[in-house]
Amino acid sequence: MTKAVHADLWIGGREFSALSGETFPVIDPGLGEVIGTAARGGQEDVDRAVNAAQQAFSSPAWRALDPYQRGHLLWAWARKIEEEKDSIAELLSQENGKPLRQAHDEVGTTVRNFEYYAGWADKIYGRVVPARHKVFDYILLEPLGVVGHIIPWNYPLDIFARGVAPCLAVGNTVVAKPAEETPLSTLKLAHLATEVGFPDGVVNVVTGYGTEAGAALASHAGIQAIAFCGSIEAGKWVLKAAAQNITPVVSLELGGKSPCLVFPDANTEQAAEMVAWGICYNAGQSCGALSRLIVQRELHDPMIEKVKSVMASIRLGYGREDPDMGPLVSAQQLKSVLGYVNEGCREGAELIYGGQRVEQGDLSKGFFVQPALFANAQPGMRIVEEEIFGPVVAVLKFDTEEEAVELANDSKYGLSAEIWTGDLSRVHRVAAQLDASHVTVNGGGGFGVEAPFGGIKQSGFGREGGWDSILQYSRVKNVWINL
Ligand code: NAD
Repeated sequence: MTKAVHADLWIGGREFSALSGETFPVIDPGLGEVIGTAARGGQEDVDRAVNAAQQAFSSPAWRALDPYQRGHLLWAWARKIEEEKDSIAELLSQENGKPLRQAHDEVGTTVRNFEYYAGWADKIYGRVVPARHKVFDYILLEPLGVVGHIIPWNYPLDIFARGVAPCLAVGNTVVAKPAEETPLSTLKLAHLATEVGFPDGVVNVVTGYGTEAGAALASHAGIQAIAFCGSIEAGKWVLKAAAQNITPVVSLELGGKSPCLVFPDANTEQAAEMVAWGICYNAGQSCGALSRLIVQRELHDPMIEKVKSVMASIRLGYGREDPDMGPLVSAQQLKSVLGYVNEGCREGAELIYGGQRVEQGDLSKGFFVQPALFANAQPGMRIVEEEIFGPVVAVLKFDTEEEAVELANDSKYGLSAEIWTGDLSRVHRVAAQLDASHVTVNGGGGFGVEAPFGGIKQSGFGREGGWDSILQYSRVKNVWINL
């Protein structure tokens, strides 16, 4: 076991223990062992952090900065993270379980978020309104104030950065609450913010449990907005808590059950390969994971064979040894994924491959599961309707394009969708009909900090990424001057 670490709250540019003195364990999911502890923040700690963020918001050290100076700070943060990328990626891999290369990918995206929004800081223009004669009317985009961010464990650094970077570009201050599974890497970023010169209290991190620190943040009267990413259930609690103070929930990203539609005119080999690798990326714990493979009837059997052969080649292993796929994040997540696999079998889908916990050798100590492939899945099955958040693909069949779209849209979720076809007209026709806010065509990842990402239906609302985030984290003020 590596040396145990302890991490405290980061408030006002310094470390604090929780006022209760309590801590909670941080577990390495690859070994199933405690690797450290973090402060168990509660209501009073959140009060203290919001207070620090409010003071920073109105302090000249932050408010009097020119916009380009905020940009410089964001750029410096990006450079510092890049300088320390190896140790940050290792820490992330250790607390989340993801393979080292994927942890590096995530640190890279984190850096890109800070770089990208560094560029926006001095380009947030208002507008002039052609109002009446002898009236000068203009519109400003102003910061909101203190913004709360509640972060999940699947991409803790990326999701922190995609919310915090635009917030700071606009001039807000933040209090972030990372998931209890992954507090350490987020705290590391917050320390670096202070190192590169962000004034004390601009970036605060309160670690702790969702129902304690998270609930205290969402219901705090001192924040002007909240952004949340996680489960539908917790999202509903956040909405209710925020409603007490009429706090705007500007972004609520609640995952998905994303369809991948494969038409006969597509490169089906490549599609099958990308679906198999895609569902194993981050052990399937991605909100945009393509977990429903919807294929034209004749493609069903050959595509199943291909997905199966790729899944069988996936090398599971301890994250820091950089395998193809690491463990699930927690014992609870493992139990949940295995439960869905059993449920799929019970409901009559055909388990073609995997779905078992790894019970032999070193990996038996961690939360490892083989990727799972279900053929002949049907609408109405839980493995088709619910977000499993693990490496499980359910395959459904269609005969016509209309049926394909109907199957894809038959979901309470609406986040991502992918189309595989060689027909450009079909691309536009189908993309226009899909209930998804993010449509990718013929693979290639399709995620970038420059473009908006977010949900519709029960996948939530709000958009993170691109200019949309700047608008989301600013408020519109109209000034009417009688000349
Ligand atoms: P979760 O929603 O409970 O946790 C996400 C974040 O919300 C964490 O920081 C958590 O501490 C906080 N939180 C939890 N309850 C809260 C509350 N009442 N008030 C305020 N904050 C609260 O997610 P989970 O339990 O870790 O995972 C459960 C399922 O959620 C997963 O299986 C998956 O389906 C889904 N999930 C989705 C995403 C996504 O990217 N949209 C991310 C993580 C989990």
